[in-house]
Amino acid sequence: MTTNNPENNLFAKGQKGSADYFTGTVWVAPLLAKDSINNFSIGNVEFEPGARANWHTHPRGQVLIVTDGQGFYQEKGKPAQPIKKGDVINIPPHVEHWHGAAANNRLVHIAITNFENNEFVTWLTAVTDEEYKIVNQTK
Ligand code: MN
Repeated sequence: MTTNNPENNLFAKGQKGSADYFTGTVWVAPLLAKDSINNFSIGNVEFEPGARANWHTHPRGQVLIVTDGQGFYQEKGKPAQPIKKGDVINIPPHVEHWHGAAANNRLVHIAITNFENNEFVTWLTAVTDEEYKIVNQTK
């Protein structure tokens, strides 16, 4: 296991993410809202072990900066990519994907999400337990 110390949190934990968009316990803290200068928002997201986002897309892409723990980033039809503290993930527009914690470790990342007008995400189906199990077996 890598660092997994909740006392090292840079930011407030925020609010629990909706079960409509996440499996397991996820904490979402808005850091910066889109405004007339910055056409993106920034948030901090903490996934507890086993937690992950649903499959989703971003109309103008997203950048993740992993600040603690270990987890996965997976694009539809491709093998999952293990990610860890210090990694930066550049997610292209319209690519279906998910990100989340490993089964045995939390994952904390900053998410910088570009907007297209007022849209920044399209939520799709949950990552099933079967899909998630496969990913954790092959890491
Ligand atoms: Mn995303």
